[in-house]
Amino acid sequence: MGTSNLIVYVPPTLFGIVALAFLLLWQLKIISAWQWSAGFAQTAAGFVLSTFSTEPSFDAFNSGLIFIGAAYCYGSGLLIHFGVRRMRMERGLFVAAYTLALAYLVFVQQSLVYQLFLTDAGFAFLLGLAVFMVAGRASRPVDIALVAASAVVVLDSVVRTTYFTFFTTSSDNLSDFADSAYNLAVHITTITVCMIFPFTALGAIASAAIERHREDAERDPLTGLLNRRGFEKVFEKSLPLEAVPGAAMVFDIDHFKRVNDSYGHAVGDKVIVALANDLERIFGAAGYVARVGGEEFVAFIPGVMLQDASSLANMLRISFGGRDWAKLGFTNRITVSIGVSEVTLEERAMEHAFLRADGALYSAKAAGRNAVVIKDATSAKTPFQQDGRRRL
Ligand code: GH3
Ligand code: MG
Ligand code: MG
Repeated sequence: MGTSNLIVYVPPTLFGIVALAFLLLWQLKIISAWQWSAGFAQTAAGFVLSTFSTEPSFDAFNSGLIFIGAAYCYGSGLLIHFGVRRMRMERGLFVAAYTLALAYLVFVQQSLVYQLFLTDAGFAFLLGLAVFMVAGRASRPVDIALVAASAVVVLDSVVRTTYFTFFTTSSDNLSDFADSAYNLAVHITTITVCMIFPFTALGAIASAAIERHREDAERDPLTGLLNRRGFEKVFEKSLPLEAVPGAAMVFDIDHFKRVNDSYGHAVGDKVIVALANDLERIFGAAGYVARVGGEEFVAFIPGVMLQDASSLANMLRISFGGRDWAKLGFTNRITVSIGVSEVTLEERAMEHAFLRADGALYSAKAAGRNAVVIKDATSAKTPFQQDGRRRL
């Protein structure tokens, strides 16, 4: 196919555009986007090389390297996207062995048929290995589509190389590549069936980026807990019936300004993280914990009776109050006050439960801090615990 045949410009243009799109996603800190961009850019370059030929051996060797490079990058893109080990060493060794074989077939044997066979087989193996490794991990429809599209590309390589190596007789001369039926077949399959590959990859990576962005917007970066927005989302999802019985809790570190003033903001941050860890350890498995302010946290535990919730809250209070801060450079005790209330089957149940828990927290502060105060929904009575003792 000569340069006057418009079909030769389609693959490099499409792959070039896709490579640029992935480059933009990479700017959004999607690690695998870099691999995808490099893979599609190499594929585009490979098609340019096969159209504007210079010296046959040089072209054959370079395009063989470029396509294996693309397969390596696609494989990395898949492995990173699905969180599978990248097998850099094993795949790197394969590429090294492939390069030696390619050099032999191109420069010593000067065989077009074997060079194309090696490139297709190498491409199919590298990409196929990654597809095999990630296949079990795909659950979202976009991810299943990506794995399926990758498998189609592998299959395309296998079918083409089998057909042209074993079922046809074509020229074995390296200089005949540009006008070969093989080259035409590559262009046709690439701009038809194989085009699903770059676009499903783009879809899967973009949707993962959007999902991560959404998750980030619902997380507190310091502690990794939900933030207020993420916490509110929990209630949008849970039905009132699931929330009852249940407990709402509010936590606030005592005299935290003094911690900042005495030891600095960075130490203050570590204290906040320590409380977040205690909260996650004690309540994380049973419910939801969020950081809703500087050193203020909330928790919602569905399916728990008020007394059990207050026992857990007291466990948290004792655990945090007993922490050894020597590693942070001081020995003073830091305590936390906690308000607990129950979630009832009323309208705006959650909002009212947290208002009561807030009131209980205020009582705990007023009564001297380092305390758990419970406020049930029906009475104003506030059973009170401090240092393990219970008062009214
Ligand atoms: P109280 O016992 O009444 O709660 O006294 P307090 O000193 O803890 O008072 P308050 O809860 O109002 O103090 C909150 C302080 O938390 C004020 C602010 O300087 C600090 N703070 C808010 N956000 C952060 C943060 O992200 N890191 C650190 N280190 N400090 C923060
Ligand atoms: Mg506070
Ligand atoms: Mg405080």
